[in-house]
Amino acid sequence: MALRIGNGYDIHRLVAGRPLILGGQRLEHPAGLGLDGHSDADVLVHAIMDALLGALSLGDIGKYFPPEDPQWKGADSLELLEQVTALVAERGWRVVNVDSVVIAERPKLKPHIEAMRAAIAARMGLEADQVGVKATTNEKLGPEGREEGISCQAVALLERP
Ligand code: MG
Repeated sequence: MALRIGNGYDIHRLVAGRPLILGGQRLEHPAGLGLDGHSDADVLVHAIMDALLGALSLGDIGKYFPPEDPQWKGADSLELLEQVTALVAERGWRVVNVDSVVIAERPKLKPHIEAMRAAIAARMGLEADQVGVKATTNEKLGPEGREEGISCQAVALLERP
């Protein structure tokens, strides 16, 4: 059996007047901030997609869903994840698991983690226990700590039976 591993990273700016969507869940930021971006700016789902693509050396999400393409304006990232998962399957690979960590000072993500895992797993045709989502603050350090943005790191393991 062949195995492949990939990693993904993403960061989006926190701005006023935008929704905060993470793992397909709409959250409330205490300062009313949301993530800026061409799509729904779901950094968690973006990092997972890049990990999947990276595992097969297929490039990154910018290649498949270019930000300058109006087609992807306001796109639901979970739908894009479904497409990336299909691409992986078309090439004969199966996802063993994904794991991720969201770096955000606020809001508290813990109450939403299970819903994020369930939503991501459902779109990928996985069980929730194959999808790890963790959250950490950045101890008020750096851009995440100053609430200038929220970032995410993810890894994905694929197998080809
Ligand atoms: Mg992104």
